This record gives sequence, C-alpha cells and structure tokens, in this order.
Amino acid sequence: MKPNAAEDEYFAREQARKREKMAREEAERRAREEAEALKKLHWMHCPKCGRDLERVTTPLKGFQVDRCPSCHGIWFDKGEVEILKKVIEGPKGMAESVFALFRSKKKAAPTGGTSGGKK
Ligand SMILES: [Zn+2]
Repeated sequence: MKPNAAEDEYFAREQARKREKMAREEAERRAREEAEALKKLHWMHCPKCGRDLERVTTPLKGFQVDRCPSCHGIWFDKGEVEILKKVIEGPKGMAESVFALFRSKKKAAPTGGTSGGKK
C-alpha cells in the first residue's frame, strides 16, 4: 500500500465514524422529540376513554388522585399506591372515607387544572 492510500483509508474511516455518530445523535434527538410529543398528547387524559382526568382531593391531606369524570376510573401516580396501602392499614374510618370517594360516581371537587408540566 502506498503511503497516500493508507492516509486516504484512515480519513475515509474517520468520515464514516463521524457520519455514524451524527446519525446516532439525530436518532436520539428524534426519539426525545417523539417522547415529548406523546407526553403532550396523553398528559392527564384517561388511558381508557381519552377524556380529561380531574385531580381530586381525598380526605387525606395532600393525597390527590386522578379520576376520569366519564368512566370513573382512578389512576395513581408513582408513590400513591404506597400511600393508599398506609390508608388501608390505618384507622378504619379513614380508609372508609377515602374509599367512599373511589366508589362515588358523582363529580368530586376537582383540585387544579388538567394541564401542567409536573410529574
Ligand atoms: Zn375514562
């Protein structure tokens, strides 16, 4: 191999490596954008019927759940099931008052809007 050929081969390999890196970065950027668009599309919408969820306050201070006003499904965020477990293991009266909310098909008092960026 002539010295120039070896040099050409080195630069060709470098170019290919750079193109691969750029393609990988572009794919990652596109995946992030798609994830963000999906989040915007589904945020605070019922996974079963698609209606806007309402954030309702339970009798427990600071414990709110997402409820669908249409199909009456209750949806928990991360950590909320653990709170519910403590409610179940706690005083019976407290558990009853929280479960009454879950059984209720009437409109509960919404607390806050359905749009937002937290979580
Ligand atoms: Zn629903």
